Amino acid sequence: MCIDLHIHSHYSDGTFSPARLVKIASASHLHGISLTDHDTVEGTEEFLEEAKKVNIQAITGLEISSTHREYSLHLLGYGINHQDGKLRKWLARLQQGRKTRNEQILAKMQKLGLDIHMAELDTLSCCGQTGRPHIARLLVQKRIVSSVNDAFRHYLRKGSAAWVSRFTYSADLSIAMIHQAGGLAVLAHPGQITPQPMSLPLLIGELVERGLDGIEIYYPGYSPKVRRGLSGLAARHKLFITGGSDYHGDNNSYSRMAGKKNGFCPPDSLLDQLIEKIGVF
Ligand code: AMP
Ligand code: ZN
Ligand code: FE
Ligand code: FE
Repeated sequence: MCIDLHIHSHYSDGTFSPARLVKIASASHLHGISLTDHDTVEGTEEFLEEAKKVNIQAITGLEISSTHREYSLHLLGYGINHQDGKLRKWLARLQQGRKTRNEQILAKMQKLGLDIHMAELDTLSCCGQTGRPHIARLLVQKRIVSSVNDAFRHYLRKGSAAWVSRFTYSADLSIAMIHQAGGLAVLAHPGQITPQPMSLPLLIGELVERGLDGIEIYYPGYSPKVRRGLSGLAARHKLFITGGSDYHGDNNSYSRMAGKKNGFCPPDSLLDQLIEKIGVF
């Protein structure tokens, strides 16, 4: 059976509610799932409750944006206590950083002559964390650009016209916070970090020294060769492996949820190993 341990809801930049995501997972006959919203655990409670109703194994999760040397890294935290007060307070600083950046991006866009306003962005992003993908969708909706990709290319990606950086914690601090909250830290989509695969072994070695527990090797588009390379690194450092679709909902620029019929099926044995490490659920 398949699992999907990398899913986003409308509490970050996905388009569906946690309840709707669980329904899709159920229709796809998934054995286990995790909601991994960017920098927030706001949807976790709803996700766990809904999964229980349809008898799907669900584990807590989140995806933290962090920095290590010149790299922007996404760290998945699994099995965290989503009610942990320290974690929530720590995340609030990341969330404030997003808010400040959104204001700065819109100010830059307005200076460039674009007709785009915070009230519109608030309407488009139903709840939780608003990010660059929401701004991209708003630009498409308003026909300022023709696609989300174009929005990133012209305005949102690093070095483009309305690019603004935001506050992030280091990978060290992010891994430590995941551990503090009782979870395990997993490097998300390692194939997306750098265009130079030769630099990955060193990077992963450095993260292992800082407490990294696992890496995501099942990810849409990863060839068997890429997966084998990552498996080798996992074996060398005794990291456990995970997998997920990075599903963002009703949005063509992203992948579909895992499932046999979608041709993407991280095996359920990965979840069994993860649960064994996390402890009883
Ligand atoms: P943020 O967290 O607000 O910095 O936005 C980062 C998110 O934007 C990433 O997690 C991706 O899902 C998405 N993203 C980055 N580049 C692109 C792109 N070229 N096209 C579509 N989505 C992108
Ligand atoms: Zn995202
Ligand atoms: Fe990511
Ligand atoms: Fe993601």
